[in-house]
This record gives sequence, C-alpha cells and structure tokens, in this order.
Amino acid sequence: MSAYHTEIEELGSWQRELRAQFPIVTGHPDLAYLDAAATAQKPQPVLDAVRRYLTTSNANAGRGSYPWANATTALVEGARDRVKRFLGDPDPDGSAVHFTSGTTEGLRTVARDWLPGLLTDGDEIVVPFHDHRANLSPWLEAQELLARQGVGIRVRELPYQAGSGDYDPDALARIAGPRTRFVAVTHVHHVYGADMNVHRVRRVVGPDVPICLDAAQSVGHLPVSVADLDVDFVVFSGHKALALPGTGAVWARRRRGPDFRPGGWQGTPNTVGIASLVAALDWLDAAGTDRIERWTVALTSLLTDGLSRMEGTYEVLGCRTSLAAGSKVQRRRSLVTFRHRGIDAHDLGFILYSHGFMVRSDGHCQAGTGDKDGSVRVSLHVHNTPEEMERLLTALASLQ
Ligand code: PMP
Repeated sequence: MSAYHTEIEELGSWQRELRAQFPIVTGHPDLAYLDAAATAQKPQPVLDAVRRYLTTSNANAGRGSYPWANATTALVEGARDRVKRFLGDPDPDGSAVHFTSGTTEGLRTVARDWLPGLLTDGDEIVVPFHDHRANLSPWLEAQELLARQGVGIRVRELPYQAGSGDYDPDALARIAGPRTRFVAVTHVHHVYGADMNVHRVRRVVGPDVPICLDAAQSVGHLPVSVADLDVDFVVFSGHKALALPGTGAVWARRRRGPDFRPGGWQGTPNTVGIASLVAALDWLDAAGTDRIERWTVALTSLLTDGLSRMEGTYEVLGCRTSLAAGSKVQRRRSLVTFRHRGIDAHDLGFILYSHGFMVRSDGHCQAGTGDKDGSVRVSLHVHNTPEEMERLLTALASLQ
C-alpha cells in the first residue's frame, strides 16, 4: 500500500466529519467541486456566523457608539488578532493586519502604499514573472509610478529552476546584490502546486531584505507560520480560506523597511466578510491545517499517480519528481494541472462537467513569462474525497 493510501485511511473518519459540514457539497452528491484554488466552499459554521452577525449586530465599524456598532468595531479589531494568531505571529504587537477584498488588492496595497517609501533611485526589486499576475502587475505599476516621480528602479525576474518549477537559489544569488531592496515570492504556485521554498529565498537574500509572500494558495491549506517563514508580508484571500467572497488580508511585520500604513480614507470595512473570516479561521484551526495538508496532498498523489499511468494521453504540468507515488520529494500541494494531448482544455472542462466535475480550464491568470496555454486545473480542499479522485481518473481514462 502506498503512503498516500495509509494517509487516506488514517484520516478518513476525521475527513468524513468535516465534509458533512459543507452543505453545498453534501447537497450535490452527483457533483464534485474541484476548483477550491479559485474560491473555496464554506462550511456550516461560517454560514452560521454570517447569519448570526447580520441578524444580531450588523452595523458599521469604528463609527457609532451604540452596542451594535461597538460589537462590530470589536469584531474587526478582534479579527486582526485572530489573523495574527492563525499565522503563528510570535510578536503581535510588532505587526499589523489590513483587510482587503483578496490577494490582488492586498499585494497592490503593499506595492502602492508601502514599497515606494522603501525605494530610491537605482534600487532593485526581485519579483516573479511566472506566477499569478496578481503578484507581478502591482510591482510593475509601482515601478511606473516611481518613474513618473523621477525614481528609476529596476525590476528583476525571480529565477526558476526549469526541472523542479521552484525558485532557483543559485541564480537568485547571482542577481541579488547591495541594491536589492525587496523580494516578492509565492508560497504555493497556483498552476503547478509546487510549495515554493521560501526559506531558501530568505537564506539567499540575507536577513535585511523585506520579503512579501503571496499566500493565496497556502493559507487554509497548510500551516502558515510567519515565525517559521521569516517574511515581512503575508497576503492572502479569505474567500479561498473558506470565508466569504470579497475578503482577504495583509499581515505586515514592522521590522524591515518603513511601517505599513495603507494610505487614504479606508471607508466601511467588509464587516460581514470579516465575521466570516474569523469563523473560517476558527474552523480551520479546529480542523487542523496540518491534517488538511496531509489529506489534500494524499488525494493529489492519488491523482498524479493515476495520471502518470496515462502519460501517453495526459501531460501533467510542473515538477516531475512529485509525480511518482510515495516520492520523498512530494512538494506538490493541493492542486494538479494537466493537458490532454488531443483535446483542447476548454473542451475537456466541458466534458468533465458532463461527468459531474467542476474544474478550472483556461490559462489561469499566469503572469508575464508564465505558460498561458489552456490547461485543466483540479484543486482540492478538505471536503474532497478519494472516491471523487477515482471517479475523475475513470472519466479521464475513458478519454484515452
Ligand atoms: N495569487 C495566487 C497565487 C492566486 O492563486 C490567486 C487567485 N487565483 C491570486 C493571487 C488572486 O487572488 P484574488 O482573486 O483573491 O485576489
């Protein structure tokens, strides 16, 4: 029996209890939602928290002085502490949390309101050109903005190892120098599922360069510890971590570079979204992100193992080493992207839906130099099951 089967067996009853808490999933037993990387389904306690908030204390935050307004203000302030705790922040007094609508807005806020204060003429930043465009466009926009103010900065491409799909520390060491002021990285790649080795990036750039982490595909899927990662920003989407659409956060450490102070009048926060985020983080902590990671990695292995037996028909994108069953280099997280060698990705998406599978099939918002040709992405969360993977493999096998 392979390692992933053992994991699946060990975690089976824990997972069944959790799956039962997703009404949209249990309500559609003939469908399999395999698009968690785009947005996640919500467990009942998150839905309950939304209803409770809207039916007991809905008001604006930081404005009124009556009990509902005070409760909402306390909710938003408490949510900042909740995010810090969720991220294992060892020094909550030395960090800040800013709520956003998702990772895109979060990264843009860092680029617009913080980065320019760090940089002077001739400085360099290193950013990914091969990840999600949300983690490239804001840095290029900041470069343009600074150029209009007469400050020329150089944007360097974070180098990749062709074989593993991971960042290349040796090539990074060659381009990182005394003018390198900032590095943007991604935690888990949204197409290849690779867990990008962020520790190595820190080791290469040294202790003084701020690192901003796009954690859109890791928060909610695996333990994300800021103490462990030694990054300065963690940016994520609440809606991918089981909270409502329109939620997200930037966690910022006040240690390297200027303080993070999102500029301008902030307006009304997404109070109900923030209520859902607190409930989602409570739920994830109770479920155990370590076990969610083990479960989804086991299902991913089941899928890649099956796909590797159909190599003549399907090309799996990304790291080859994590394709082998039981591979020690299992750094592929909860998503797998592939192409059929004879069927266009959009058509394959339609065919799979006719079998009850909801997958993503397009170019996946890849940035600059990323592979933008269509492909099918299967992305998982804790509600997914080995039976769904087996059924999917059967459907894929029927197209050989
Ligand atoms: N970064 C990564 C790695 C992502 O996968 C996504 C969403 N697919 C984003 C950023 C953008 O997230 P959002 O749409 O919530 O802003």
